[in-house]
Amino acid sequence: MVKETGFYDILEVKPTATDSELKKAYRKLALKYHPDKNPDAGDKFKQISMAYEVLSDPKKRELYDRGGEEAIKGGGTGGGFDFHSPMDIFDLFFGGGGRRGGGPRGPRKGKDVIHQLKVPLEDLYNGSTRKLALQKNVICSKCEGRGGKEGSVQKCANCRGTGMQVRIQQLGPGMVQQIQSVCGECRGEGEVIDPRYRCKTCQGKKIVKERKILEVHIDKGMKDNQQIRFSGEGDQEPDLEPGDIVIVLDEQEHERFRRRGNDLIMSMQLELVEALCGFQKTVATLDNRTLVVTNLPGDVIKHESIKCVMGEGMPVYRDPFEKGRLIIQFLVNFPPSNFLPSKSMEALEKVLPPREEVLVPDGAEECPLQDFDPATHSRHGGGRGMEAYDSDDDQHPGGQRVQCASH
Ligand SMILES: [Zn+2]
Ligand SMILES: [Zn+2]
Repeated sequence: MVKETGFYDILEVKPTATDSELKKAYRKLALKYHPDKNPDAGDKFKQISMAYEVLSDPKKRELYDRGGEEAIKGGGTGGGFDFHSPMDIFDLFFGGGGRRGGGPRGPRKGKDVIHQLKVPLEDLYNGSTRKLALQKNVICSKCEGRGGKEGSVQKCANCRGTGMQVRIQQLGPGMVQQIQSVCGECRGEGEVIDPRYRCKTCQGKKIVKERKILEVHIDKGMKDNQQIRFSGEGDQEPDLEPGDIVIVLDEQEHERFRRRGNDLIMSMQLELVEALCGFQKTVATLDNRTLVVTNLPGDVIKHESIKCVMGEGMPVYRDPFEKGRLIIQFLVNFPPSNFLPSKSMEALEKVLPPREEVLVPDGAEECPLQDFDPATHSRHGGGRGMEAYDSDDDQHPGGQRVQCASH
């Protein structure tokens, strides 16, 4: 039991979420609410980052589960973590960043643009090519990114091209104050374009929006969260080397198979007769072949037992002839109550392995078995708990018997 679920709710996962479920949830929401895509959702983006920062760290998650948000924020004992900025968390997660303001290496580079691409498991199994239409900023080809006719772009006389204006204000004798502000003439651009010669295509902005079709090749065996990078395809800006477009694969859940690394996991329902007397079953693969699995009479399959087929899992990335395992978990359907007339029951008993003899000592207490409802587990004792038990069972109402059943 966790104290509160706020952080889990923000990420839209259950408190039992695994690491990979948390990652997936963060990725989905962070991309959706990133300020680039959703400028009005700054707070939401911050909350998502904070929740993920806590829950992705086992120690912080434990602390949160025990003490809630208060424990994390340092109210009480052991106090307080320094949270990273939402952007740092994002960059760390997507492996980007570190480009702001031009690092020591090379020319200044624009931001990477990250897109998520939903891919069904079939596409990751068989490989596929997807066309993705994107809007991006490109340098205006009409004015070649100048913003106007050649020679019409002048350095702003007001700020001498710096884009900043400095005013000196006399506060008193011998005291001056320097006030710096964005240049009003050029609005911080550092240059002015004579309106008569301004480029009509881009209205002097130097960039225009362009629709771009990207062909994304999904190779066999690629995984959830894998990134496909298109170098230099990000938004263009004058005097800036464009960043990359990064496609992040988002593996969709499959109705029959669950993936774990290169293995595929499925469950298979068996009737009791099949579990005891052998069976033959077919499995449709992700590339539409049909597999036949056979279990010979005499090999008993237990409920929830697991078997596997080698080489029928996911293809290995960059080595697609190699494949993982198909892991099959068997679920045995037992027949319903009273499926046999009592006469046949005797016949059945004769063929099954014999039962163990039980000695009942004098004074042993008779306890009826009842259906178990995990939801009522924690409320033994009080009146409400009794009601819950009683309403489930019309044969043996009454407190004593309930106590007997729950201990
Ligand atoms: Zn132009
Ligand atoms: Zn200016």
